[in-house]
Amino acid sequence: MALGLPDYLCSANGVELGSVLTNVDFEPDAIISAAPGSCDANSKLHEFTARMLGIPQFLLEKPGDNARGHETYVTYFKALVGELEEWLGEKLDEDYLRMMLERCNKASDLFYELMEMRGHRPSPCPNLFTLFAYAARFTMWGTEEAITMMQVMVDVVRERLEKGEYPSPDGEIARCFWTYTYYYWDWVRFFNNMEEKGITFVGDLLGSLIMQRYDTTDMDTMFDGLARNCQDYCMTRQMGAESMSAQWIDDLIHWTTRLDADAAIFCGHHACKQTWSVFSMTRNELMKRKKIPTLMLQGDAWLKTMTPMSAIEDQIDEFVRNVVVKRKTGKA
Ligand code: SF4
Repeated sequence: MALGLPDYLCSANGVELGSVLTNVDFEPDAIISAAPGSCDANSKLHEFTARMLGIPQFLLEKPGDNARGHETYVTYFKALVGELEEWLGEKLDEDYLRMMLERCNKASDLFYELMEMRGHRPSPCPNLFTLFAYAARFTMWGTEEAITMMQVMVDVVRERLEKGEYPSPDGEIARCFWTYTYYYWDWVRFFNNMEEKGITFVGDLLGSLIMQRYDTTDMDTMFDGLARNCQDYCMTRQMGAESMSAQWIDDLIHWTTRLDADAAIFCGHHACKQTWSVFSMTRNELMKRKKIPTLMLQGDAWLKTMTPMSAIEDQIDEFVRNVVVKRKTGKA
């Protein structure tokens, strides 16, 4: 921020780019960004960083969400790979790509197995595992370690499902779906505390991905699958849609139904003006179509100085006891 970046730009990117701009964690040689077409704040931050550091930027722009848009996206995707090959002076290895994508397929099968088990009442999946599954998807897909990690979680959750285990002595009292992001600090204590009070986090929008299996027949089918999954990546899918509110609402109805949620929680950050602009529509539609109330939190998913975690926990607790439980028992 001392460089002139305003604090109302995306804090998710701000945190990461703080490391990049100060060379504390790593020094990038280039920036590859799929943000143009879905997030202006993100795109401008990347451009600023590339110019500041004097490094190239490789962009993948998102066109409209229709059959023609997908064809265009595949064309852009292939062009991006070509630009990277030229810059690196090296061709993408087909066999290596195939091996990576086959690992992705295995990990994705386990990801959805875990998700299906989360649909049970009470959820046999610890809140933290739901977060870990997304984190693994975000950082480890294509590695053997991701498969091992997903397999361990699936085995633990299957065992808990068979035994009917749930950590709260009062049982599961609320199943909450986060309509955008979680909070990404103090999360071990926060996620476990909630579960011990009987509050399950069945998922959030970032962890509720529509991932297609890769057809690894040849380069064309692999590029097509990669482009499709990139185009449908969470946030890009909703915020870069032809109608942000319509796509976001459709997805929320899908996930809250599939995961059998009985409440929703919205948290983002004050920089994400686009989500705030349609938040009330998502809340109204969830209430109208699913009879699910939404708690709106004023905090920042990535900055703990905005709202203390104790205040966030209290608000969720009050919402569950005064709204969710009372609605279920007919007292509200
Ligand atoms: S949280 Fe909002 S501002 Fe940040 S990357 Fe996502 S859409 Fe962009």
